[in-house]
Amino acid sequence: MGGVTGFVYHEDYVKYYFGPTHPFKPYRSKATFELLKDLGVFDEKAKIFEARMANEDELMLVHTKNFVDFVKRMSEKGSGLLDYGDTPATKGIYEASALRVGGTLRGAELIMEGKVSHAFNPSGGLHHAKEGSAGGFCVFNDIAVAIRYLQKKYGLKRIAVVDVDGHHGDGTQTIFYDEPILTVSFHRYGWFFYPGTGNVNEIGRGEGLGYSVNIPLPMGTFDEAYLYAFKEIVPPLIKAYKPEIIIQQFGVDSHYEDPLVGLALTTQTYQEIAEIMHKLAHEISNGKYLIVGGGGYKPENVARCWAIMFTTVSEVKPKKPEKYKELFDKYKPQKNEQIFEKVKNTVEQLKKKIFPIHGLT
Ligand SMILES: [Zn+2]
Ligand SMILES: [Zn+2]
Repeated sequence: MGGVTGFVYHEDYVKYYFGPTHPFKPYRSKATFELLKDLGVFDEKAKIFEARMANEDELMLVHTKNFVDFVKRMSEKGSGLLDYGDTPATKGIYEASALRVGGTLRGAELIMEGKVSHAFNPSGGLHHAKEGSAGGFCVFNDIAVAIRYLQKKYGLKRIAVVDVDGHHGDGTQTIFYDEPILTVSFHRYGWFFYPGTGNVNEIGRGEGLGYSVNIPLPMGTFDEAYLYAFKEIVPPLIKAYKPEIIIQQFGVDSHYEDPLVGLALTTQTYQEIAEIMHKLAHEISNGKYLIVGGGGYKPENVARCWAIMFTTVSEVKPKKPEKYKELFDKYKPQKNEQIFEKVKNTVEQLKKKIFPIHGLT
């Protein structure tokens, strides 16, 4: 389909670090980078770009001055918490967080300036952060900042976010709840599962009515059920909304081996999602497709999943095809009819609520 894909990276990405016992492992980005290099994926169609820092004004496109100042102070102090328990304040976390946001902004700039068609910032996707608060290992919301930046600097109006992280993209949803920015989130949902939001009834408000789209999934949702929901919902909505750019939060904690989530996807599903999204971007958004990372708490799996996604989107043939083949899961989680029925019901409910607003049946 043509076009260059950018991999936005910085060696300081590893400094987004919450300590040795914390489940968030920042070397996932480096592991992905090393794996792609080893596979021989980088060439004239898949290029490496360096991330930059986001400045304070950019962070404040979304975040309150109070919160930005609070993170700065806590970062200098290097102890305590940035939220109610998940996100510790470590030394230098302000700079490390601003670099993650800057990486996503760099991706947006590369796309808007026509240097690439698609870009991936493995260290972005911090979808739990809100205007005035951190949450769930996310300090600043790079997705939301990128949306504001695209609106302000490039005058974009129609921006879609598709979030496949195993957790609800609550921060992003909250920030744009009253606006016609399309946010679609697939996530596990149920009692006591973080962050507790993302019900099918949360559909936006005012001008944003119908633009917050939630697909809550039961524990154990497997490839076929997930892809059924994805195909029923995402392509029709994207085709109706016609975004000028598609942003995808590509968290891979929905993988069956992830220790925190309990969904049951395999690498084959991530590849298929990447194919669907990539095709949609070329068909609808003039190729403009910005991908960011997200969750994933078994680092070697994260690197595999993201390497497959990046290779698929860039359409590069790896120089080590045998090794590339090895990245795919051999195990297939069990299908379960009850789970599939539940997912089908959710899809039906969602279509009834959302589709008419977009002129779909
Ligand atoms: Zn392409
Ligand atoms: Zn997650």
